[in-house]
Order: sequence, then structure tokens, then C-alpha cells
Amino acid sequence: MSTLACGKVQVMSRILIIEDEDSIADLEKDYLELSDFEVVIENDGLKGLEVALKEDWDLLILDLMLPGIDGFEICRKIRESRNMPIIIVSARKDDIDKIRGLGLGADDYMTKPFSPSELVARVKAHLSRYDRLVKSGIPENDVVEIRGLKIDKTARRVWVNGEEKQFTTKEFDLLTFLASNPDRVFSKDEIFRNIWDMDSIGDIATVTVHIKKIREKIEADSSNPQYIETIWGVGYRFRV
Ligand code: CA
Repeated sequence: MSTLACGKVQVMSRILIIEDEDSIADLEKDYLELSDFEVVIENDGLKGLEVALKEDWDLLILDLMLPGIDGFEICRKIRESRNMPIIIVSARKDDIDKIRGLGLGADDYMTKPFSPSELVARVKAHLSRYDRLVKSGIPENDVVEIRGLKIDKTARRVWVNGEEKQFTTKEFDLLTFLASNPDRVFSKDEIFRNIWDMDSIGDIATVTVHIKKIREKIEADSSNPQYIETIWGVGYRFRV
């Protein structure tokens, strides 16, 4: 990647800052404007969310503790419809852990106080990454995130609260099948037919064994599962 290509991307980029501390917002804005970004500040959560969704932005810098509606909720709502990079800034290290755990789809996290030039560097990095993705025409990985569980279907990788877990092919297929069809009850027979070939050796007991192994990897307490529920006499359901 050449510096020139980066420069081109940045010239027209519009950045929204949702931050209620004026001194921090102004400092971020000053540094970003020095790098030729167009910057708008919103200092209220609700108004910030409204502006974030109403206009086109290339990147969002989001504080967590805000009047009106907090940054967790803003991030979640924006991710329902928008794919721009989101950098979260927070005064508390705990918040960063929480937002990772919630799997809200932020691209980056910074803890206050941070150096404004570090912020600018990260903004540039995220913008060029998004730009490359769009220009390359390669779609982003197909990722399912439900609470602390993140499944990258393209890369076939799974993380639980940020920690990667190893799955066999069938365990991965089964977990992905259920997580991609949340809140629906599947019988063991339906699951078996969807995941295993018609002529595989095995039966619905195979499903039970695999569910048990998956739970051991994704559930904090396998006897009280938060993701894959047993619906007695029917089958299983992935909770949203
Ligand atoms: Ca704040």
C-alpha cells in the first residue's frame, strides 16, 4: 500500500465524533482536521445516534458514557444497518472488556487518556482497511456474533469472550447451523440430516454427543446452557 493511495482515501473522509467531554472532542477534532479529515462533533447520545444513521460517515469515534443513550447501545444500533469502522474510546479499562464480551462489532478500542496522534494513526489504518475491502470486492468475512460468542463462518474460527476455541469440522458445522438459525427449534433428526451426509454412519445419538462437546467449549456452565437450549422431547434451540 502506497502512502499516496492512503492520502487519497483520507482527503474526503467524514468522521463523526460522539463525545460529551468538550475538551476531548475538540482535541480529537483538531488533530483529525490537521490530517485533512472533515469532522463533526455530537455531544449527546441520542442526537449522535440520529446523526450517525441519517448521514453518510466514513468512520465513527464513539465515547461510552454519554447523556441520553450510552455508547454500547449506539454501537449495537449502528451495526444493525451500517458497516463503517467504529473506534470506541472509554475512560475505563473495564468497559473495553465489556464491549468485547458483548460482541457489539466495534473495530477498535482506546482507553482515555490516549495520544491524539495515536488516534489519528488508527483512524487512517481503519479507513484504508475498509477502503481496500470495498475496492477489492472481496466481501467481509461472514461473522455471527451473539453475546460473547463470535463465529467467523468464512475463516471457520470461533471465539468465546475473546478466546479462540478449537472445533472439529462437524462441531463447527453444527454450531454454525444452530447459531445461523436462532430461536428455532430443530429436532435431532433434522439436525442430523442437515449436518451429516445421508450415508454417514451414525444416528441421532451422534447429535447429542456433538452438542455436549460444543457446550463444553462455549458454555460457562454446561448444565445451565446459555446458548444451546435443550427443548425436552423435541430437540435444540439456539438462544438469541
Ligand atoms: Ca463521556
